[in-house]
Amino acid sequence: MDLRSNEPYWLIKNAFLKSYPSLDKSISTDILVIGGGITGALIAHKLLQEGKDVVLVDKRVVCNGSSTASTGMLQYEIDVPLYNLIEQRGINCAVSSYRNCEKAIFEIKKIIDDIKSNCPFEFKKSIYFTPTRKGIKDIKEEFNARKKYGFKVSWLDKEALKKLGLDAYAGIESTSGAIVDPYKFAYDLLEYCSENGMQIYDRTEIQEIKNEGNQFTAKTQDEFSIQANHIIHCTGYESVNTLKDKNIVNLLSTYALASEVYTELPKGFKNHIYWDNSAPYYYFRTTSEGRIIIGGCDEKFKNAIKRDSLLSKKQNKLTKQFQKYFPDIHFKADYIWAGTFGETDDGLPYFGRPYPEINEHYILGFGGNGITYSVMARDAILHSLNHTNHPFLEDYSFGR
Ligand SMILES: Cc1cc2nc3c(=O)[nH]c(=O)nc-3n(C[C@H](O)[C@H](O)[C@H](O)COP(=O)(O)OP(=O)(O)OC[C@H]3O[C@@H](n4cnc5c(N)ncnc54)[C@H](O)[C@@H]3O)c2cc1C
Repeated sequence: MDLRSNEPYWLIKNAFLKSYPSLDKSISTDILVIGGGITGALIAHKLLQEGKDVVLVDKRVVCNGSSTASTGMLQYEIDVPLYNLIEQRGINCAVSSYRNCEKAIFEIKKIIDDIKSNCPFEFKKSIYFTPTRKGIKDIKEEFNARKKYGFKVSWLDKEALKKLGLDAYAGIESTSGAIVDPYKFAYDLLEYCSENGMQIYDRTEIQEIKNEGNQFTAKTQDEFSIQANHIIHCTGYESVNTLKDKNIVNLLSTYALASEVYTELPKGFKNHIYWDNSAPYYYFRTTSEGRIIIGGCDEKFKNAIKRDSLLSKKQNKLTKQFQKYFPDIHFKADYIWAGTFGETDDGLPYFGRPYPEINEHYILGFGGNGITYSVMARDAILHSLNHTNHPFLEDYSFGR
């Protein structure tokens, strides 16, 4: 699967930070992690902290799948509004999902500090807004649900939004949001793991997995084998290649633009990130060197050729939308890129063993909260490995 167009902003900004060798012999380990994107990096780091014997492989150069295309906006708000999620999945699952995404944002900051990474990360307030008068009802309902379940939110009316430069009808301001460079974060985590003894292999594709009892043999494209007691698939949207049930995720195409650098960030962007309640939604964040990133304009197909052929059309559309929302801010794009994106019906991820008796585990942070979900999976994976209970393994199970 072609996960992204050629020039996502983070890759140009950071370039290739480090390459690992490909696997050139057969080896064995307790746990094989397949996939070196942000999910594999977060899981591998957790397993390292737990003193586990882990090998991580990626068929590309690590971090070059979806994680380099991600816009790295960290929000506790899930693609499905809280009041809708409560209807879909019940109060406990919905509120816990929102609450744990919020905790995950703070956990990311802690991990960055713990591994002494200089990866750009900034806390920001997040605004969820409606561009239409009709949408006020939806925003109000969401505001009431968040208030009721203890989230720190403020109501912003048209006037209050105007002071931030945003032309919209109503919004909810939350204090717990953040922005991160997802590519640098994943790279730094893997580098930390490597420096602390983990074996990491680039350009090592797992093409076949056989199991006898709970002893796995994973075969690479070069015919080497990795023996393991557990396999953790952190293979992102490409996991549909190995899962029997392909319908757990709806794959589509999404687009992002990064502006030229502003000498001084516009007022409304100094402390805030934004997303609207359109379907599909638009969202806006800044970068540490003073750019504004716009994301959205999703299309309901994943064909990469078709996706990339629309890049310049999407640049116009995203820019126009930004100018409509922020009429006083001049926006000129420096970079545009596209990526495959996956949505689930309830906006929630999948964690655990799809076939309960087999020690093949999946961590699939689908949706706009992919990064915070992967952080939440760090505790759940230990329970999946031990076959012990954890609420996330129920809430985000394959059979739900
Ligand atoms: C444009 C865009 C914007 C986004 N914005 C946000 C956002 O603002 N906030 C947010 O939280 N999320 C966002 N997301 C989602 C987020 O980027 C993803 O959830 C996250 O990057 C997924 O990480 P991953 O490690 O699971 O997948 P990937 O980064 O794709 O990593 C999976 C890795 O597995 C490897 N692999 C696959 N199969 C094999 C195999 N057989 N053998 C070996 N290796 C294999 C691949 O090469 C790949 O490197 C966005 C996504 C896109 C595309």
